[in-house]
Formats: sequence, structure tokens, C-alpha cells
Amino acid sequence: MADSIMIIGAGVAGINCALNAAKYGTKVYLVDDTASIGGMMARLDKTFPTNDCSICIEAPQMYEVDNHPNIEILTNTELRKVNAANGGFKVRLVKKAKFVDEEKCTGCGECMKACPVTVAHEMDGKVGGTRKLIYMPFPQAVPNVAVIDPDCRSGKMREKGACVGGCVVDCSQCRECPIALCVLACKKEGKDAVRLWQGSKNIDLEVRSIVVASGITDAKPPKGLHGYEVYDNVITYTQFERLMNAGGPTGGQIIRPSDKKHAHKIGWIQCAGRGLDHGVPYCSKVCCMVATKQTIITKEHDPSVETIVYYNDLKAYGKGFWGFYRKAKENGVRYVKARPYDVFEDPETKNLTVRYEDLETGELRKDEVELLVLSTGLLPSERNQRLAKVLKIELDKLGYFKEKDPLMAPLETEVKGIYVCGGATGPIDISESVVQATAASMKAILNRGNEGAME
Ligand SMILES: Cc1cc2nc3c(=O)[nH]c(=O)nc-3n(C[C@H](O)[C@H](O)[C@H](O)COP(=O)(O)OP(=O)(O)OC[C@H]3O[C@@H](n4cnc5c(N)ncnc54)[C@H](O)[C@@H]3O)c2cc1C
Repeated sequence: MADSIMIIGAGVAGINCALNAAKYGTKVYLVDDTASIGGMMARLDKTFPTNDCSICIEAPQMYEVDNHPNIEILTNTELRKVNAANGGFKVRLVKKAKFVDEEKCTGCGECMKACPVTVAHEMDGKVGGTRKLIYMPFPQAVPNVAVIDPDCRSGKMREKGACVGGCVVDCSQCRECPIALCVLACKKEGKDAVRLWQGSKNIDLEVRSIVVASGITDAKPPKGLHGYEVYDNVITYTQFERLMNAGGPTGGQIIRPSDKKHAHKIGWIQCAGRGLDHGVPYCSKVCCMVATKQTIITKEHDPSVETIVYYNDLKAYGKGFWGFYRKAKENGVRYVKARPYDVFEDPETKNLTVRYEDLETGELRKDEVELLVLSTGLLPSERNQRLAKVLKIELDKLGYFKEKDPLMAPLETEVKGIYVCGGATGPIDISESVVQATAASMKAILNRGNEGAME
């Protein structure tokens, strides 16, 4: 039986699962289908309830993973096939091309400077984030390797001024490119790491156990919800997180998308879209504390900024969370138990009027704010369905992985040898993810065979 384990998903849960297993001497394959490890935590500014800098906590762990002799990181990699074999699992993975040689790239950034095309960054386009067609997923990315937007190589970016994609033959046919500015810049640095002709690669492994740590994603509100995608100054709480982040697109300046001016009065609508046909049909647990964190940090940036949280039910379920909420109130954050029913924009100022029912008094009220943040909740990873099919395990009705027994076996699945932790189990915060990850790693190490699994 193989001595190694595989972890799918390299957010804070996958990373902690990997580090724990590796410290016990187990060989770990840490797989993520994006270009860097880190998950959601790498995008956050500070973390409740301590308000420590998120990437300052996670980056050293990412670095440790990268340098651990027992851990092999496989980014841009998808799981394609799994079969029970020899008491463990035979696994087929596909590593999609980054079009950059991971061994040769040093992350120097010269290729990015040379690239002539700038596009909106998928992470924070709405609040001003941009990237080149060859780019680093984020500054602390691990591996610290650039990746090329596949649309560039396929020629879809020619109209935007891309230097490649206009040849008679496809990039995959050449082994030398005299045209691409990123290739030339990299050669000038003496690296020759850009590989426009790179293809996908199959990887076959045998592992003892598999841990699913595929995490969560932030729910995107439907167009029109409280003015989202209709009015410029309505953003989501993930976009606000990027806005207040010193490493984000505005360098931590809390400015409005419409005029790039500082916002002096900001509202947060909690449970935005919850309970609607297209919305999130459950409480995501973390949003009250996320909004509380965001108001506290906003006031740290500028104590004169007015902050209002329109909430339904206040969830402060964890250790230190109630004190965190009290701190926000002492700092002047206004919490209004309210049901907002519409939002409209002043076309001149681009300010937003929120009309709501005050649930304490039953009165209809309104406030004018300069920026409106929608706390939209957490959803399961949109890749869970495909993953569940390959692993032959079930999802619950919400799309998270189903536990074997929610009380007595919450990290196990119906298939012996396949475990689950972190956001893959449901809405969760960071500390709970770490606890689950550590426990799941022990279960994965201690698994002594899965005869009869996956039949
Ligand atoms: C705006 C916002 C603010 C937050 N602030 C806080 C906070 O201050 N404090 C706190 O405790 N929590 C906070 N949270 C919650 C926190 O982000 C989660 O608890 C945490 O990210 C869960 O970690 P995870 O590793 O389980 O999942 P993730 O961070 O989502 O990582 C999952 C990883 O799996 C990968 N993946 C997904 N599917 C596949 C697949 N099929 N194959 C391969 N890889 C896959 C993803 O690419 C990703 O890298 C916040 C959440 C949001 C949205």
C-alpha cells in the first residue's frame, strides 16, 4: 500500500493538512487547480477576531509547504480519475499548461513589464485591479511563477494589442518564438522560461488516502440585487476586502469605484440575497464577523468614516466574537436590525439611498451612503460536483461534501480512505478550518486500507 496521501485544494485547510501529515513523515501531494496555493485567505486583508494580517500569517505557511521535503505542490492541476487499488487509490491528474517553465521562472517580473496588454484582474477588477496577459496570480504566490492567460496564446487578445496569436501556425507547433515580448524579455534575463508551446501533462500517482479541501467561494449577487451591477458604488464584501487591503489594487485606500474619492459613509447589507430563489438558502456563519472586521478596519483607516451595518440576526458564535462586536460598537459602528427593501442612486453624486424597515420599531426609514457593501455569503466551490463524481462520493443538498455521519464521523465520507475538511464541509472560518485539517490529516495517515471502497 502506498505511503503517500493526496490533498485536493490548497487553501488554509489543505495547507495545514499537508504540513501536519508531512511533519509525521508522510509524503504529501498537494493539488490545486489554480496557479497558486493559498485559497481565499490569500485574498483577505485582516482576519477576525484578532485582526491580524491574513497574508502575513498564511505566507510563511505557504513558504514552509514549498520548502518541505515531504510535500510536492501540484498547481494548475485537476483530478481526472480515481480507482481503488492495493488498499489505497490509483489517481490520474492533469497538469494544465502555465506556458511558463516552473523550474526556470524566478518570478523576476520582466516578462510582465514587457507585455503590452493590461486587462481587469479577476480577483479585483471592479475595484480597480489589473493584470498583464502574463502575470503573477498575486505577489506572494507559491510557486512564485508567472502564468500566461490562455486567451493570449489562442489569439483572442489580438484586438487588445497582444503580440502573439497572429501567426499561421498555432503556438503549440513552434519551439522558438521571435515575436512574443515576454519570451524576449525572459531571454534577456538569461532565463528562457516562457514556453508558449507548453501542453498539458498527465500525472499518475498511487496514494493511501485522499483529503478533499476544496473550500468555499463567495456568492456573486445577481444583477440588480440592491443595485449591484446597476449602480457603480455597490460592491460585494470580497471586493471591499480587496479595497481595504494595503496589497490590493488601491493600496488600502477605501475609495469609491465611481469617482475614486474616499467614501465617508458606508453601509453593509447583511444576508444580501439570502432566502431568495437564486440566493444562498442558509446562514454562512462568518458574514457578521466579516462585516464587523471591515467596519473596525475602516475606522482604523479614518475614524471619521460613518459605518452602518443592516443586519437580520447577529451571529457571534466563536471565541472572542462577541467582544469583537462590542469593540465595533464602542468604536461608533451603527448596527441597525433592519430589512432593506430598496436602494436607489442619486445620478449626480452617485450616492445611494437605502430604504429599510427598522425591525425594532417597525418604522420605514432611509439612509444615504456613499458606498454600499453586500455581504453575500459563502457557497461551495463550483468545481465540487465534478470532483464528487470523480471521487464517487456524495454532495449534500447545498453542494458541500456529505459527511459519513455529521455527529460521529464529520470528516469521513462514504468511501473509506477519502476524508474532507475546511470549507468543503460547509461555511466555516479559518480557525475551524485549521482544526478540521489537522484532524483530517491524522485520519488520512492512519488509514490502513480501503478494501471494497468505490465498488
Ligand atoms: C470576504 C471574506 C472574508 C473572510 N474573512 C475571514 C476572517 O477574517 N476570518 C476568518 O476566520 N475567516 C474569514 N473568511 C472565511 C475564510 O475565507 C474561510 O474560512 C477559509 O478560506 C476556508 O479555507 P479552505 O482552505 O477550506 O478553503 P479555500 O480558502 O476556499 O481554499 C480552497 C482551495 O481549493 C482549491 N480548489 C477548489 N476546488 C478544487 C478542485 N476541484 N481541484 C483542485 N483544487 C480545488 C481552490 O482553488 C482553493 O485554493 C472570509 C471569507 C470571505 C469570503
